[in-house]
Amino acid sequence: MTPYDNIIGQLKKAASIMNLEKDILTILSSPERVITATLALKMDNGNLKTFLAHRVQYSSICGPYKGGLRFHPRVDLEEIKALALGMTIKTALVKIPLGGGKGGLVVDTKSLSKKEIERLSRTWIKAFQDVLGPQKDIPAPDLYTNPQIMSYMVDEYSKLAGREIKGVITGKPLAYGGSKGRITATAQGAFYILEEALQDLGFQKELSVAIQGFGNAGGTIAKLLYDAGYKIVALADSQEALYNKKGFNIDKVLKYKKEKKSLKGFNNSQIIKAEELLTLNIDILIPAALDNQINKDNVEKIKAKVILELANGPTTLEADEILSKKGIIIIPDVLANAGGVLVSYFEWLQNLKDNYWSATEVNNKLKEKIIASWQTVYNISKKYKTNLRTASFIGALEIIKTKFKFRS
Ligand code: NAD
Repeated sequence: MTPYDNIIGQLKKAASIMNLEKDILTILSSPERVITATLALKMDNGNLKTFLAHRVQYSSICGPYKGGLRFHPRVDLEEIKALALGMTIKTALVKIPLGGGKGGLVVDTKSLSKKEIERLSRTWIKAFQDVLGPQKDIPAPDLYTNPQIMSYMVDEYSKLAGREIKGVITGKPLAYGGSKGRITATAQGAFYILEEALQDLGFQKELSVAIQGFGNAGGTIAKLLYDAGYKIVALADSQEALYNKKGFNIDKVLKYKKEKKSLKGFNNSQIIKAEELLTLNIDILIPAALDNQINKDNVEKIKAKVILELANGPTTLEADEILSKKGIIIIPDVLANAGGVLVSYFEWLQNLKDNYWSATEVNNKLKEKIIASWQTVYNISKKYKTNLRTASFIGALEIIKTKFKFRS
């Protein structure tokens, strides 16, 4: 089953429970547009190389397409389509006037020089400029793309347009029209939801946590949870998985990771197998790295009481159903990591008005919107007696349905 089949399965499940009109399900069952381009890049050594790029503009029912752009050797179109549909659900669920999109470029950035990455980023803009724009399609960083790459892209787009257009891309550096709070937004949003959910669901504190992935999302949530008194007992990055029964001092781990670029060699802990982290006897499991991590092979061994999905698509549909039957609560990706797109939306708004907000303002707006989204989802889950993932899809489809009504 591809990631796209997986999310289409989730969409159909929600549509059937809420009796969604057939036309809307039909519209949402394929992307509005898929653009594929071959980018030719002159390498530093003078040779020419080509790279395959996709942009999926999934749905504009709620507004201009919005979604990240990833540079990764394993990018494939089915995955990008799944992520673009995920964005469509996410933007609708948190009630922002944006649709869903996603992009991918098949490249191993580690094999390129800085100059090659810059030229490739500018070439990407040249290939896709016609379909991009603050009112058309607004990319953002994703795996192996970052604020620097976004800057090259805005600069190239502005040059081609003959004027500066910062609102074409979000996730820019602060000095180039970025928003305060964007870097920590995803984890911050997830933290607010988790705290609210644990309270609503009757969990008491001193909860133990395992986090898979220690990058932007995983590292930031680790710090927020540590400061709030949670016990982080297991951590993993792509090179090492670590366990500490007494709980890690996250300040020390973050400092180590910054210096060594890896968790490898961090002392005061026990090395465990990467897959063991997911099946530990803990209260909260946070996948914050890759997709399809919780699947039919390990689902029966999962012991966490709550799973907070910071990564996109970490649980397969099959595993999701088994976990729900076991009473494990999954706070799904479309809700849990929506803080990122919310602050991207704030950045876009600030760019359009050329009026910039304080960190407190950004944070307060994020908190208000994300907690409201949690409450909507929680209420829907009670109304339809469904899990939180299906409830999130129903919540998003309710919004899409209302907007679609006036267009058809
Ligand atoms: P990142 O590149 O900053 O960090 C990824 C982390 O995962 C790294 O620490 C890496 O070492 C680790 N990792 C990779 N393979 C692993 C493996 N096999 N086992 C354990 N760890 C592994 O990326 P990020 O921005 O933190 O994104 C992580 C996930 O969160 C992705 O699925 C992304 O789509 C999702 N997400 C991120 C944001 C955001 O704003 N950063 C927003 C929405 C969703």
